[in-house]
Order: sequence, then structure tokens, then C-alpha cells
Amino acid sequence: MSRFEGLPDRRQSLTGVTDQGDEVWLIRSISQKLYRCGCCHDSIEPGDENVVVQYVMRTGGTEHSHWHRRCAAEVLMPSIRALKAVNASDASRGKLESRGRRSPGRRRKPR
Ligand SMILES: [Zn+2]
Repeated sequence: MSRFEGLPDRRQSLTGVTDQGDEVWLIRSISQKLYRCGCCHDSIEPGDENVVVQYVMRTGGTEHSHWHRRCAAEVLMPSIRALKAVNASDASRGKLESRGRRSPGRRRKPR
């Protein structure tokens, strides 16, 4: 079991870096519509708790998908470098999209 068991939750999101050097953020979400999991492609029903996986690319820009919590914990989290918990308010969609518009050298590290 990982020390990040149960995360991300309402108060804490997770962030780290992929092997390619892109930032990845994991944010708890309740789906507003039917999604396909970015991992197993099975459905995530409206109202289901899920994990938004948001990438902030090294070269700029962002992209996100919705994942089952189980898929994120078992498949994605073990592959992320320097994974850590951060305040969920630092991982809002708007903040991450604005990070994606900044060059990596000018991005402030999450606390
Ligand atoms: Zn899945």
C-alpha cells in the first residue's frame, strides 16, 4: 500500500513528473457526465468519484483525462517521479492551464 492511499481527495491533490519530464497532476473529481477512463477505457458514470489526470507539458500546453481511482493508483501513480501531495487549491484547472502557458523555467514549484 502506498502512502498516497486515498489520495487525491477533496483537500489534497498529487503532483509529480513523468519520465518525459512533463508535470502530471492528479485531482479528485466527481464526474458531471459519462467519461471513458483514460486507462482502461471502461465507463465512469455521472456522479462517480474519479481522478482527473492533468498533464502540464514540458514544451507548454496541457491535456487531461478522467481515470478510475483504482486505475490511477495502480497504473499511473507508480510511474510518476517525485510524487507528492499538495493543497488541492493549487491544482485548479485555471492554475494548471496558466502553468502550461509559461515556460518550465518560469514555473514556480508547487509547495
Ligand atoms: Zn479505468
